[in-house]
This record gives sequence, C-alpha cells and structure tokens, in this order.
Amino acid sequence: MALFFIDTEKKADAGHQIHREGCPHLPDKDQLYFVGSFATAKAAYEVSPLIYSPASCCPACATPA
Ligand SMILES: [Zn+2]
Repeated sequence: MALFFIDTEKKADAGHQIHREGCPHLPDKDQLYFVGSFATAKAAYEVSPLIYSPASCCPACATPA
C-alpha cells in the first residue's frame, strides 16, 4: 500500500494531479489533499474525481497501469 495525494491546484493541461508519497514533483503541503492509502495508483485514480475533478496521474510516480 502507498499513500496518495492530489494537487489542489488545477493545471491547465493535466487537471488535478495525483501523486504517490515521496514523489519529487509533489506540490507544497498547502496544495496537497490526502486521497488515501491504496495498493495501486489506479485505485487512487478511481476515487480522486470525487474529491477534485478532472484528475490525472502524475507520469513520474502514479501511472495508472
Ligand atoms: Zn508525482
């Protein structure tokens, strides 16, 4: 299991990005919302739109495959 966070700031090209704990691209703490603990990034991705939408996975740490 890993902890996943979502960027509260919306990016024009990627929406709200989902990151795994420890990703070097994590935004500042005040721009992070804790999504939860999941086995895969795909699982985090499935619930993230309930929090912030549209959501996408950070290509560096949270590819949904
Ligand atoms: Zn990331």
